[in-house]
Amino acid sequence: MEQRFKSLSLFEFQERYSSKGDCLAYLAELKWGNGFLCRKCGHGKSCKGVPAASRQCTSCNYTESPTANTLFHMVKFDLVKAFYIVYFVATNKKGITSTELSRKLELRQKTCWSFKRKVMKAMKSSGDHPITGTAEVDETVFGGQEEGVRGRKNGSKKLVVVGIQKKKKGVSRLYAREISHADAASLGDFMKHHIAVDANVTTDQWSGYGPLAKVFENLVQIPSGKKGANFPDLHRAIMNLKGWLRGMHHHVWDLQDYLDEYCYRFNRSFMKEGIFENLMIRMVNASPCLIKNISN
Ligand SMILES: [Zn+2]
Repeated sequence: MEQRFKSLSLFEFQERYSSKGDCLAYLAELKWGNGFLCRKCGHGKSCKGVPAASRQCTSCNYTESPTANTLFHMVKFDLVKAFYIVYFVATNKKGITSTELSRKLELRQKTCWSFKRKVMKAMKSSGDHPITGTAEVDETVFGGQEEGVRGRKNGSKKLVVVGIQKKKKGVSRLYAREISHADAASLGDFMKHHIAVDANVTTDQWSGYGPLAKVFENLVQIPSGKKGANFPDLHRAIMNLKGWLRGMHHHVWDLQDYLDEYCYRFNRSFMKEGIFENLMIRMVNASPCLIKNISN
């Protein structure tokens, strides 16, 4: 399953990060490989600090650990296992549940759930890779009826706008965002963030897209057709996303994080760089995040 991604094999991963020291050294490299900048006084020089792999400012003596101010901040369980969670979340084609992580790593399920939520925060789109060329956009409803089938009561419907980049063989990029209304403001905000203004965008004839032709000069509106027959790639992508979501988690209250996770993995599968390494860079550059702030 891992081979699809140009990333570390499980064997390489195990060799490289077999101890807490290995993990700290890698985090230190990601954090200070391009130089040190003291958070307290802005000084640019440091020496080795205590404990191992930390850096101490040579001006004010402030000491910072490799995990401080990253998403590894205050992780209370084995750092090697935290690395494994990032690895499995990044490289499993369809992601991994906290229950499965718990079984593989002999950690409490709640511990895996909490840390996985932090990893998902790092998977949020940077907005740096807008869709170019041929794009299609449509909205869809998540939850509602599907939740009803499962007999759940927390499944209020959520509206989601989805955009794809089309390439010859199908979909080469995918973004999805939960929106409150399918109006021009919400749809436009999503499209401006994720689609280049000169892309050839096709939407259905919903009135919310009309005003956006002012921004997207090549926007074309066509009839959707029966069950979206005129947008087969887009609708297949939406079906796959919904299918994954049903298998991974059963409620929609934290939908955006799951949409981000899915799109991140989908989009990275086309990129040359290693997905694990990319996610680690994001984990180190992200602001620390307390789990009590995550669930909203
Ligand atoms: Zn300092």
